[in-house]
Amino acid sequence: MRVRDRALLNRRLDGLGTTIFAEMSALAVATGAINLGQGFPDTDGPEQVREAAVRALRDGRGNQYPPGPGVPELRRAVSEHQQRFYGMAFDPDTEVLVTAGATEAIAAAMLALLEPGDEVIAFEPFYDSYAACIAMAGAVRVPLTLPAPGFRPDLDALRDAVTPRTRLLLLNSPHNPTGMVLTRDELTAIAELAVEQDLLVVTDEVYEHLTFDGVPHIPPASLPGMRERTVSISSAGKTFSFTGWKVGWVTGSAELVAAVRTAKQFLTYVASGPFQYAVAEALALPDAYYTSVRDDLQDKRDLLASGLTAAGFEVYRPQGTYFITTDIAAFGEKDALAFCRALPERCGVVAVPSSVFYDHPTAGRTQVRFAFCKRHDVLADAAARLRKAFNA
Ligand SMILES: *Cc1c(COP(=O)(O)O)cnc(C)c1O
Repeated sequence: MRVRDRALLNRRLDGLGTTIFAEMSALAVATGAINLGQGFPDTDGPEQVREAAVRALRDGRGNQYPPGPGVPELRRAVSEHQQRFYGMAFDPDTEVLVTAGATEAIAAAMLALLEPGDEVIAFEPFYDSYAACIAMAGAVRVPLTLPAPGFRPDLDALRDAVTPRTRLLLLNSPHNPTGMVLTRDELTAIAELAVEQDLLVVTDEVYEHLTFDGVPHIPPASLPGMRERTVSISSAGKTFSFTGWKVGWVTGSAELVAAVRTAKQFLTYVASGPFQYAVAEALALPDAYYTSVRDDLQDKRDLLASGLTAAGFEVYRPQGTYFITTDIAAFGEKDALAFCRALPERCGVVAVPSSVFYDHPTAGRTQVRFAFCKRHDVLADAAARLRKAFNA
């Protein structure tokens, strides 16, 4: 059979198509609409961190392949960060791994830890790379729906979902797209189950510093029995507003980190050399930086939430991340994807249909996600446009 007559994409990736973020960002560019779809800030992070990257480039640090596990300065800074914020100790030489963003860390963890046919339990709606990475590893995802309005996990359903084939729990807290942040009680129950069933746990904590109203972020690895079974993942993109730099990291036991490193070295091998030095400096910024990022985002959350409410959306107020999930059923809408495809034409705003983050065919069908990591004036403008279009 000739190449052009064949289905080229393998069966594991069938149906994954183009990521919704690419589609909606392209739509924003094509229509000139305000892009509250993809979650990237419209203002760069701290000047001094940018300057640190420039200095590294000029001084010739990181312009050639950095060490496979990451530059020592960054591994040390990640270790100090875990100690400073969570009181957790990780050896920078054996228990920290630098990756090309959290995205590569997730992929490497799935490819390293899963056998074909293994089951992975994850709460849906989930970040779209999870489904792809689990599929690439030949494993099977087992989704558990987080129900609106609170999006709290159903811990009995979680227990019931474990089978002899379950290998791994994939957790994301603070949770994109719902903004749910797992509580200590929930994490305790999850940890007890993981220990009892001897499960591996992979955690995506890229929004660890973006929580509101005094809600704390608690790393799952800090719970009893969890350190030895947990691969914790985070990244500089969201915390420091440099999503293009793609500097992420993994912390965990030496055995788990070595396993993830084995897969990682054949994905990118290394990435983002000079940026690694800059992120090392960023992680050491004083508490005032971390506090100001969170306070600023909390204001922006409140601004967009009240705008969406005034426009008639049902708003699920997030405890963390920089996303607001809404429901459009009150407008008589039945399909978030169609709604989002039409939204730029209708009012010059782009959002993302949360429905695509669910496996379940009807869950989340009328949920739409808006990003608020944008300038105040941009959010105010978007809110005014939405209000005019929906609540004239
Ligand atoms: C943005 C995001 C990522 C990707 O992080 P990078 O460091 O840019 O690769 C991973 N997980 C979630 C939940 C995200 O929102």
